[in-house]
Amino acid sequence: MTQQPRILVIGSFMMDLVVRTPRAPQTGETVIGTSFNRFPGGKGANQAVAASRLGAAVTMAGKLGEDVFGDQFLSVLQEEGVCTKHILRDKTASTGIGSIVLDDAGNNRIVVVPGANMKYNLEDLAALADVFPAHDLLMLQLEMDVLVVQAAAQMAHRQGTKVVLNPAPARELPGELLQVVDYLTPNETEAELLTGVPVTDVDSARKAAALLLERGPKHVVITLGQNGALLATHDLSLHVPGFAVDTVDTVAAGDAFNGALAVQIARDCPLEEAVHFANAVGALSVTRPGAIPSLPKREEVEEFIRQARTA
Ligand code: ADP
Repeated sequence: MTQQPRILVIGSFMMDLVVRTPRAPQTGETVIGTSFNRFPGGKGANQAVAASRLGAAVTMAGKLGEDVFGDQFLSVLQEEGVCTKHILRDKTASTGIGSIVLDDAGNNRIVVVPGANMKYNLEDLAALADVFPAHDLLMLQLEMDVLVVQAAAQMAHRQGTKVVLNPAPARELPGELLQVVDYLTPNETEAELLTGVPVTDVDSARKAAALLLERGPKHVVITLGQNGALLATHDLSLHVPGFAVDTVDTVAAGDAFNGALAVQIARDCPLEEAVHFANAVGALSVTRPGAIPSLPKREEVEEFIRQARTA
């Protein structure tokens, strides 16, 4: 395919506010920390950037607060070539944040405030009706109101736009949503929560995938960390092995994988090849620290695939 694939991401923004400290304070205590950094992320933003770096034309929709974090997200996404004109700002809620206290022993304490992400509503979605047909594929995750996620998937389904749902973070899902999903991409934990089958290896992933397929999605791709992924449809169940790499930081591996899978599907790449490519992108992302900084460009991925051996 020669045309650039067009992907619409309706999803979340989360600014990670990371405080490092020798030790975490007790209740009522103040300690002096050693550093403070903020890192833009959130599953929606990460997947949008992942897809853009891999060559897709990406439009992102969702909601930010009217605050400095919201401004920072817009500039990060614009620098990445992501279209931001459908991103809204909320006057009443802050941009989504994760407040992370990390001590020298490597323990963390996290408070997530979804903020404006949860203010993106059905009315906001209705305003996107004309935007769907200009895209080959819609990517969704679950850091927003699940009713909005469901309505978005239904809207895309009616208009013939393919739907990829990354059901993260793990939660139960309405049947009406699963019925309009073309590609469902849980990790092991999410697959277990959705099916009750503990997913620990390829065989258990096959069982979970079979149960998920009965609930409506046309394709199920269960990510298996370093073991790659299991691809299942009503006609096949195939383990696509991962790539052996030195792991530095697994943050955003799932987002890297999902962004990549979406781009390859939108390019009409055969599915097994698409999963192989997504495994390479996930593997490359774990060799580097951080979320957005760890996401590779297409040329790097192609070079990595040429050189690498699968695990
Ligand atoms: P999540 O980050 O959502 O928990 P996974 O851990 O399953 O998802 O990772 C997503 C994908 O990233 C995997 O399917 C695989 O392709 C790749 N990946 C993750 N961890 C590793 C690893 N340690 N080595 C190689 N590839 C990895």
